[in-house]
Amino acid sequence: MKDLIASLRALQEVDRQRIDAEKERRAITERVEQLSMMLAELEHDLADKREKLKEAERWYKEREKELKEDNEKIRRAQTRLNGLSKPKEFAAVQREIEALRRSNTQKEEEIQKLRAVMEEFQGAVTEEDTKLETMRAELAQEESSTGVRVRELDDRLGGLARDHQGYERDIPPDTLRRYHRIQKSWQGMAVVEVNAKGSCGGCHRQIPPQLYNILLRNNSLESCPFCNRFLYVQVENGENGHGD
Ligand SMILES: [Zn+2]
Repeated sequence: MKDLIASLRALQEVDRQRIDAEKERRAITERVEQLSMMLAELEHDLADKREKLKEAERWYKEREKELKEDNEKIRRAQTRLNGLSKPKEFAAVQREIEALRRSNTQKEEEIQKLRAVMEEFQGAVTEEDTKLETMRAELAQEESSTGVRVRELDDRLGGLARDHQGYERDIPPDTLRRYHRIQKSWQGMAVVEVNAKGSCGGCHRQIPPQLYNILLRNNSLESCPFCNRFLYVQVENGENGHGD
């Protein structure tokens, strides 16, 4: 029975290492996935901002063109003004010129404001672009180091699977089935020590004294009545603090 417990414990140790390796593998691959998702999102945002900037530039150019056209109108009106002799007509064209000047001043102000906003926006886009460049480099590095580690872990997992098969050979099939069942439901801990005070190393509940005595004899495979895990007690030095 001692050998069976030893084999189960060896199997459990292999499973513990496997679970750790799987956890690490998951964590590092998820990290890379998250990073690349984040990067994609930021790139999408930046593309949107660039599109907005283009729109603003189009608008800016249109306003500038209008301004030029209006200035041309003013120039023509002034030429016309010189040829006019009737005061009424003269006054009418002068009013027209005044109106155009006022609207042009307003347009110029609008254009200047837009220019300032666009410059600020352009600055932010450039800054984000630099940040993204750094992130892309970091992601590439992370991907390559993760790739190396994943291959190491896969090798390790392959080795552990072989070890597992090796230990499985020493365990009767029904015990092995039970082991797998318990190991799955408790995520790794299927074989636990009962401490000197008689509590289960898995669920920490007090096992019945008669079960403890059976375990001390070490000639049968016993389970915790509460959590179903396989139990053993350390009896190497013969002495045990439990009981009477
Ligand atoms: Zn228990």
